Amino acid sequence: MARVTFREDRCKGCGLCIHVCPKKIIRENRDRINAKGYFPAEVVEMDKCIGCAFCATICPDCVIKVEK
Ligand code: SF4
Ligand code: SF4
Repeated sequence: MARVTFREDRCKGCGLCIHVCPKKIIRENRDRINAKGYFPAEVVEMDKCIGCAFCATICPDCVIKVEK
């Protein structure tokens, strides 16, 4: 199983990772606001992640790390 981690305080909530994920398992976490004042992205169903790293590749701020 792949593991996806976010450097949450660098996220600007642009949503690119949410749109690009083929499994649709990334969402905006509306329960938290990060240091920049945005709702940070998070993976909600890690067990469904296929480790494609599309999310990490598209993120303009290098927030996401994918490990297999
Ligand atoms: S690695 Fe692929 S499947 Fe996993 S969260 Fe990122 S875009 Fe989605
Ligand atoms: S692409 Fe990067 S900056 Fe944009 S919402 Fe996803 S993690 Fe945050």
